[in-house]
Amino acid sequence: MKAISVLGSTGSIGTQTLQIAEEFPEQFKVVALTAGQNLNLLVEQIKTHQPEVVALAQEKHLNPLKERINNLDPEKRPKVLPQFVSGVEGLCIAASWDHADLVVTGIVGCAGLLPTLAAIKSGKDIALANKETLIAAGPVVLPELKRSGSRLLPADSEHSAIFQCLQGTPWAENARLSTGVPTPGLRNIQLTASGGAFRDWSTEDLKNATVKDATSHPNWSMGRKITVDSATLMNKGLEVIEAHYLFGLDYDHIEIVIHPQSIIHSMIELADSSVLAQMGWPDMKLPILYAMSWPNRIETSWERLNLPKLQQLTFKEPDKTKYPCMELAYEAGKTGGTMPAVLNAANEQAVSLFLEEKISFLSIPKLIEAACEKHKNELRSQPLLNDVIEVDKWSRKYVIEIAENHRHLPK
Ligand code: NAD
Ligand code: MG
Repeated sequence: MKAISVLGSTGSIGTQTLQIAEEFPEQFKVVALTAGQNLNLLVEQIKTHQPEVVALAQEKHLNPLKERINNLDPEKRPKVLPQFVSGVEGLCIAASWDHADLVVTGIVGCAGLLPTLAAIKSGKDIALANKETLIAAGPVVLPELKRSGSRLLPADSEHSAIFQCLQGTPWAENARLSTGVPTPGLRNIQLTASGGAFRDWSTEDLKNATVKDATSHPNWSMGRKITVDSATLMNKGLEVIEAHYLFGLDYDHIEIVIHPQSIIHSMIELADSSVLAQMGWPDMKLPILYAMSWPNRIETSWERLNLPKLQQLTFKEPDKTKYPCMELAYEAGKTGGTMPAVLNAANEQAVSLFLEEKISFLSIPKLIEAACEKHKNELRSQPLLNDVIEVDKWSRKYVIEIAENHRHLPK
């Protein structure tokens, strides 16, 4: 039985993690939950899972949550009330909770950085969904992993696919994650991308893309931020950086291939030119389950893959002109140091402005590019945690400033 702490329990990753815990009660027990604002759902989760600790992102939600729990019918109230904590400190308490063996990081954005680091420092295994943490702070996270012996088990479907393919190689142990050292014999990684909401749109039509258009993903059901990232293909760019830190490959050996059916979740090419792929329906429960159950496989009754029914799998090269975010991510990754943190924060801020309908869809890459360009002279090549936090703040502020001035932005 693994005891798990679920960070971001009310989100898309969090709720799917809890569904898995409910489906396999002999394998998993939930001991810690953290959430942002969705108190109604959190109360239901507390009733079902009876965690030992519950952390809220903001202190102001603490008393309303306790009141709701106290007002429950006695038979529905948890037998033992959890400890309630809040703020970043509270999130870190839940992330490093003594009784937890594994922490599922389902917080969205760089807000996941400090809780994830707390989990790593306390030596927990991490099922990593919160890619922004590794992207912004790879140079900080990797040495901490080494120090504590904590392991990053990818829950992102592409990285889970690569991780699963690597299990079949003689260097599985070496690839057991995030040494930052190249895995011998691993020549190339091919990350598959569905193409996102606008894969069938022309570049011209993107000028009129609305929030509703950008948040309707053809294959995956996910949170709003990552759905917009999929529409700009920044998600794939971020995943390139994530793959670099997880598997130690340089950027020239990490490729993106468009695969509209999202059945192959990614591939590895080995030294002898053999290519291994991992397949499954586009359902995040599978990579989450594997990160939770690794190194074991849990038998499920989930729908089995039926290739004859699908008939064909197709592939094509990504369009770099239509999707400039991919190249911005490659460049930031190659520059390294604090640049990926600036890229990530600029993206988070630009996406948030887009979701608030303050900027157009095509302004997102422009704002990110402007922030990265401006940061070139301030780059710190071997950042510490404070550097990452500082440039993250600067980048968000800079993006807001340019967006307000509407300089160089497409209408
Ligand atoms: P989501 O928006 O659905 O959920 C985010 C969760 O984080 C919620 O519980 C929310 O309350 C919490 N949260 C938000 N802001 C917070 C803050 N400032 N402090 C603390 N908690 C906060 O997001 P999601 O789609 O579940 O994505 C979560 C992470 O997983 C992201 O990093 C995303 O890139 C990654 N990921 C998601 C999917 C997916 O299918 N959803 C797939 C691959 C990777
Ligand atoms: Mg992914």
